[in-house]
Amino acid sequence: MEKTFNLTRREDGIALLVMDVPGETMNTLKAEFADEVTQVLEEVKADSSIRGLVLISGKADSFVAGADIGMLDACKTAEDARELSAQGHKVFAQLEGLNIPVVAAIHGACLGGGLELAMACHQRVCSDDKKTMLGLPEVQLGLLPGGGGTQRLPRLVGVTKALDMMLTGKQIRPTQALKMGLVDDMVPFSILEQTAIEMALKGNRPRRKPKLPVMSRILEGNGAGRNIIFDQAAKQVLKKTQGNYPAPDKIIDCVRQGLDKGMDKGLQVEAAHFADLVMTPESAAMRAVFFAITEMKKETGAGDTEPKPVKKAVVLGGGLMGGGIASVTTTKAKIPARVKDINENGLSNALSYAYKLLDKRVKRRHMRATERDQLMALMTTTTEYKGVKDADIVVEAVFEDLNLKHQMVKDIERECGEHTIFASNTSSLPITQIAEAAQRPENVIGLHYFSPVDKMPLVEVIAHAKTSPETIATTVAFAKKQGKTPIVVQDCAGFYVNRILALYMNEAAQVLLEGQSVENLDKALVKFGFPVGPMTLLDEVGIDVGAKISPILEKELGSRFVAPSAFDKLMADDRKGRKNGKGFYLYGDKAPKKGKKVDETVYSVLGINAGAAQEHNQISRRCVVQMLNEAARCLEEGIIASPRDGDIGALFGIGFPPFLGGPFRYMDTLGSRRLVEILEGYQHQFGDRFAPCDMLKKMAEQDEKFFP
Ligand code: NAD
Repeated sequence: MEKTFNLTRREDGIALLVMDVPGETMNTLKAEFADEVTQVLEEVKADSSIRGLVLISGKADSFVAGADIGMLDACKTAEDARELSAQGHKVFAQLEGLNIPVVAAIHGACLGGGLELAMACHQRVCSDDKKTMLGLPEVQLGLLPGGGGTQRLPRLVGVTKALDMMLTGKQIRPTQALKMGLVDDMVPFSILEQTAIEMALKGNRPRRKPKLPVMSRILEGNGAGRNIIFDQAAKQVLKKTQGNYPAPDKIIDCVRQGLDKGMDKGLQVEAAHFADLVMTPESAAMRAVFFAITEMKKETGAGDTEPKPVKKAVVLGGGLMGGGIASVTTTKAKIPARVKDINENGLSNALSYAYKLLDKRVKRRHMRATERDQLMALMTTTTEYKGVKDADIVVEAVFEDLNLKHQMVKDIERECGEHTIFASNTSSLPITQIAEAAQRPENVIGLHYFSPVDKMPLVEVIAHAKTSPETIATTVAFAKKQGKTPIVVQDCAGFYVNRILALYMNEAAQVLLEGQSVENLDKALVKFGFPVGPMTLLDEVGIDVGAKISPILEKELGSRFVAPSAFDKLMADDRKGRKNGKGFYLYGDKAPKKGKKVDETVYSVLGINAGAAQEHNQISRRCVVQMLNEAARCLEEGIIASPRDGDIGALFGIGFPPFLGGPFRYMDTLGSRRLVEILEGYQHQFGDRFAPCDMLKKMAEQDEKFFP
């Protein structure tokens, strides 16, 4: 059987331990490796000719990218999970306990269990390559580093920095890792192995104390000072998590106990807390999301159909969306993009959008200026259809006007090749209608980005009845190259994301009109777990955008989409939100220096007296069940292909709380029977817009779930 850990002895007495998981592109740690590692370490111990050990990876892109998360789902009880962690502790302690120098030579991803392994070595050297990233991202899966990370990291880099890394899960680049003492040296990849060997030959030097700012040095050196750091961290965590995520508090507790009571006690606490977290529904949901994303990365979106290569793209319209789309095409996908706008402003906007993104990276020293300039050269502009002929895909982001979109379809069929895909970024026009102007409707598809394009991870790929599988697969692959997570949805007004969002927003507006204050409403949904409340979101997206989409949804989907009268009143007062500095909150000069303040005049515009004070969970429940019911209806109608896609769409397009795993997983947690009861209660109280959809009613009869 092929091994993962292969030992080779060199003449100078240094042994190389090369990690190379057979048949995988990345190294990940699995439980079954424990015996293999123990055996290798016994061999090293028994061989007195070995003077030092270097751990290095046989993979191109990863030292060790983490532990295999599949192991966790195999844990039936907390005791299983605790044993898993304790087993890791034992193996890492054996490595750390070797009485010869042990050096980790790190190149590529060194994350989670990988970094914990590296920290159990006596010294670390990393390559200065872009691929090299170090971090403990467990918190993003609702977990904590269970392989000694909560103990070794603070001892290596200090409490403040260790907490920051573990509570955010952020990844650290080589220069920063060197600066903070996470690694002892950083060298070009070409001399990484040699440097590690020399470090092992020289033997262990006393460990450098982490370089800390004066204040941290004073605080971290004693228990009382550390308590101040822990209390502050806990406060910040609560503000961010609203108490919805159990992992951060447990991470803080592991560090606290480990430093107060010693490493052994710290490791015991770590294993116990890790085990508890593995069993929480929050971590199960976040792990399910992780698996869903991994699965989606492999799919073409069109069964067995393979995508065609995209060597060149054209973007029509260089406005807010077009500028962003052209930017991610050139800077992320590294595909040449030609931007066509009728207006010079659109062209310069697209260029400056990309330049700003790239230049930020140059300023942070994440990119060289020459690389920025090379990427900028991929974007070219035109006010006419020059140089567009050989485009493989055209993404249209001109004004939202059906006639104009029809004109674009005709222009592109005339100017480009027979194979050229026409992808529309429309937010409300059915793709079927846009395709009516096409001679080759099989090439027409929707590609719906979210604003701001460079930040929002989701795109909806919308197939109409005649879209060909090649067009779907090629568009999905194109979006993935731009760094997006695409979900393929069927054509309907609002597609999936805006459709479920609209009902949630309408309900929030309804609650507002009943006399709830803007702050209370926003706070309720933030507490529920959304990144911002609905009124803040409306200000950001544009109240005018909401007002424009609402009647379209009502016409196409029925009376449950009737928007409350708030939109008309706000539009009559020219309140568009942040874009014109007039919305639910104050902007510009009137805004407070820190935080946000409600523009109280909005209440008189709406004709309400904001005195009601409903409980937060009552408010959030009303808004959220509207979203859930509509998501189920989208599945019932085949708009989305699966509950998994529905979850990913809501998580990445709206910011649905990750600890709930998405609307479908949350519906399973609530139970279909309970959800239908809630909806029927509200239907009785507030009207038919709450009537549960047929799918939910049927599921409720047997109390069925969406996921096995
Ligand atoms: P925008 O007004 O910022 O940009 C539109 C651009 O199209 C302008 O630069 C304009 O000069 C250009 N244009 C107009 N006619 C043209 C033509 N004949 N040929 C080439 N360029 C032309 O608008 P936007 O917010 O970027 O929206 C564009 C599209 O994206 C719309 O269909 C909108 O519904 C959709 N969309 C918008 C958002 C959003 O949040 N703004 C989100 C998703 C989708």
